[in-house]
Amino acid sequence: MVELGIKMTDQTVVWLQDVDSSDLRLVGGKGASLGEMIKVGLPVPPSFAVTATAFRRFIEETGISDELFATLEVDVDDTKKLKKVENAAKKLILTAEMPEEIKEAILSYYDEMCRNEGEEVYVAVRSSATAEDLPDASFAGQQDTFLNIRGGEAVLDAVKRCWASLYNSRAIFYRVEHDFDHSSVNISVIVQKMVDSKKAGVMFTRDPSTGAMNTIIEGSWGLGEAVVSGSVSPDHYVIDRRSKKIINEIIATKETMHIRDPVTRETVVVPVPDDMKEERVLTDEEILKLVEYGEILENHYGIPQDIEWGIDESGKIYMLQSRPITTIKMEAESSDSPESAIEEVLVSGLGASPGMATGCVKILRDISELSKVKEGDIMVTTMTTPDMVPAMKRAAAIVTDEGGLTCHAAIVSRELGTPAVVGTKNSTEVLKDGMIVTVDGDKGKIYKGSIIMEKPSAETSVTAVNWKPITATEIKVNISIPEAAEKAAATGADGVGLLRVEHMILGLGKHPSLYIAEGKEEEYIDELVKGIKMVADVFYPKPVWVRTLDAPTDEFRSMEGGENEPIEPNPMLGWRGIRRDLTDTEHFKLQLRAFKKLFKLGFKNVGIMLPMLQHPSEYARAKQIMLEVGIDFETTMIGIMIETPAAALIIEDFIDVGGLDFVSFGTNDLTQYTLAIDRNNEHVASLYNERHPAVLKLIKSAIEVCRRRGVMTSVCGQAGSRPELVKKFVEYGISSISANIDAVEDVRNTVAREEELLIVEVVRKLKLNSEG
Ligand code: PEP
Ligand code: MG
Repeated sequence: MVELGIKMTDQTVVWLQDVDSSDLRLVGGKGASLGEMIKVGLPVPPSFAVTATAFRRFIEETGISDELFATLEVDVDDTKKLKKVENAAKKLILTAEMPEEIKEAILSYYDEMCRNEGEEVYVAVRSSATAEDLPDASFAGQQDTFLNIRGGEAVLDAVKRCWASLYNSRAIFYRVEHDFDHSSVNISVIVQKMVDSKKAGVMFTRDPSTGAMNTIIEGSWGLGEAVVSGSVSPDHYVIDRRSKKIINEIIATKETMHIRDPVTRETVVVPVPDDMKEERVLTDEEILKLVEYGEILENHYGIPQDIEWGIDESGKIYMLQSRPITTIKMEAESSDSPESAIEEVLVSGLGASPGMATGCVKILRDISELSKVKEGDIMVTTMTTPDMVPAMKRAAAIVTDEGGLTCHAAIVSRELGTPAVVGTKNSTEVLKDGMIVTVDGDKGKIYKGSIIMEKPSAETSVTAVNWKPITATEIKVNISIPEAAEKAAATGADGVGLLRVEHMILGLGKHPSLYIAEGKEEEYIDELVKGIKMVADVFYPKPVWVRTLDAPTDEFRSMEGGENEPIEPNPMLGWRGIRRDLTDTEHFKLQLRAFKKLFKLGFKNVGIMLPMLQHPSEYARAKQIMLEVGIDFETTMIGIMIETPAAALIIEDFIDVGGLDFVSFGTNDLTQYTLAIDRNNEHVASLYNERHPAVLKLIKSAIEVCRRRGVMTSVCGQAGSRPELVKKFVEYGISSISANIDAVEDVRNTVAREEELLIVEVVRKLKLNSEG
C-alpha cells in the first residue's frame, strides 16, 4: 500500500493566503496551489479551505470512521456492489451531524468573506483530495465541485457533499487500482468566491501534445465549465513564448455558454447570442497578460502548468487553479514532430552531479544575493563557496562558470543530490535571470526551456539499500556537509572514508582566528564537535575518518575576520593542509581538542586523517603536537592522505615515524600535482586524467609498501567513484574505497564483480596447474 502521511494541525479552516505547498496534506493540491499563486502575487478570488483535519475530526467525532472504512471493503470490479458501497458511504457522511466547532469555524470564515466583499457572496465549493494534483497520483476530477452556493447553511451542506464525494465509485476504484489505502487518503474543501466570468477557459504553459515552448489558451464565453467539460468548442490560441507572438488562432463557433441564472442563480446552459458566436473571445492584451501569468506560475513551480482562468465583467483576470501538466511526458516521448526537438543547448560544461532539473535561472554575482535563490531555482554563479551552501540546498540545480569535477560546487552538489554542471566558462553571461532552463548533470548541458525529464534525479536515485553484495574491500562514503549524513548512511556504506571539516569551518562564516581573538575557543570547538557528531552518530560504530582542515587561503579570505589571510599567487600550492596547521598550531590544537571531546562523548569510531603531507617530518611534528594535546595513538585511528607524489614515493619513511593506521589516496590532488594540471581550471580540464599511468603507478607502488607494512589503504578522491579505476585499485590490493554518495552502489557492485573475477582467475590457474 502507498502510505500518504497525513500532516495534521489543529486548524479546521484556514485562509488560502496563509498556506503554501508545504501544506499539501492539510489543504490538498488545489488549496496548496492556490496558496502559492496568492504568494507570487497572482489574482486569485478570495478563498478559504476547510482542512483535511476538519474531515478527520468529523468522521472521528461522529463515530462513523470504523463503519465507513469497513464499508469500503469491496471487489471494485463488481460495478453493482461498488455503487452500493458508494451509496452506503455517502449516506453515512450526509446523515452524520457536523461537529458544532467545525460548523462555527466555517460559518465565521464565510461571514468574514461576505463582509469583505460587501454582500452575501456566491461561492464555488470544491473538493481537494490530499494527494490530488500530484503528477503521478492525480485524483483530480474524481470528487465533486458545487458552484453558485450562497448562504451559510448552503455552504455547510456543500462541504458535506464534497466530503461524501471522496467515496464516489470511480474515486474508490481509482484508489484500489493505485494501491492507496482509503483511510490514508484525505479531503479538504476549498470555498472560493465565484467569479462571474464573462469569459473563461484553460491555459497550458507548454504545448501538452508536443512539448513545444508555446502557450496554448482555450477560451469561451461564460463560466469556465463549458471549456473544462469540453461541451463547447472554444477559441484556440497558440503563442510562441520566445517572441510572445500569436502564431496560430482558431476562432470557433461557440454555440452555448454556462452562466448563472439571474433569478435562480443556478448554473444554466444558454445559447450564445448570435453576434458573439463567431466573435474572438480574448483581446491581444488579455492573451499576453495570461501568458505572463502562466510564465510566473511555471517559473514558480519549475514545471509546465495547466491553468484555469476567468475574466469578469470589469475585465479583471483571475487565476482559478494551476497544476502540473500530467500528460506532457507521455505524449512528448512518443512525438517525433520537429516541435519536440526543443533541446537547444545554451551552454555546456562538465556534468558534475547526475540528474536533471528544470527551473528558473538565478544568477548569483556575490554572496549578498543568496536570498535570490528560491526553492526549485537554477543557481548560476562563477564558483560556489561554502557560505553559499544554504542557497545550494534550495536550488534544483547548480551551474558554475569555473571548476572541474572536484571543485566545491561538484562535491557539495553530489552530496545534496542536486544536478550540477561546472566549468561552463560563461553561464553567468549567457544565462539570464528569469530564464527557464533544464540542467542535465550527466551530460553537462543546459538546455533552453523545460524539457522532459526521463531520468530520476540523483535525489531519488539514492535509495536505502536493502540487499548488497558483501565485499572483502570495504566500501565507504565521502561526506562534506554533515546534513548529508543520513543520505550517506542509507547507501549502506561501511563507514566514512573522508569527512572534510573545512566545509563546516568555512560555513561558519566567521574566521577561526576571530573566535580565538574573541576568546570564544570553546564555542568554536563545540561547532566542530556538533558537525562531526552529526556524522559519527549516524554511522556509529562504523568508522568515520575526519580530515583536519584543508582549505586554500582564498576561501578563507571572504569570511568575517579573514582579511589577514595571505594573498597567494597559487593557493592550490600554498598554505593549506598540514603545512597551515603546523604553523598555525593554535588552530590545529582547537581541532584536536574537538576530537578529544568527541572521544570523551564515546565516539571511538572517529579517526583522524591529516592532509597534504609532502615530508615525513611534517607527520612527525603533527604527531608530537597530537601527543601533547593528549590524543591517544593506541586507541585512535590515525592516518594521512597521500596527495603529493612525494608522499606516495616515500610512504615507507612516513610509516617509519610510527603510529600510522591507514593512508588514503587523495587522487584529486595527487592527479593535479603529478600532472601539473590545476584541478579547478576549466581551461585545462580536458588534460586532467586520474587514469594517467604515472598516477596509477604511484598508487600501485604505495599500496604494495603499505600492504607489506600492515598499514590499511584507501582512496577518497574522485577516482574512488569511477568504476573503471576502482577495478584497478581492487587489483592492487586496496583495503577500502570511499566514494561519493551517488556512486556507492555502483562502486560496491564493481568491487564485488572484480573480487569474484580475481578469485575465479586463481581457481582457474590452480586447476590448470593441477591438470598440467
Ligand atoms: C583529494 O585530493 O583527492 C581529496 C579527497 O581531497 P580534496 O578533494 O578535499 O582536496
Ligand atoms: Mg586533496
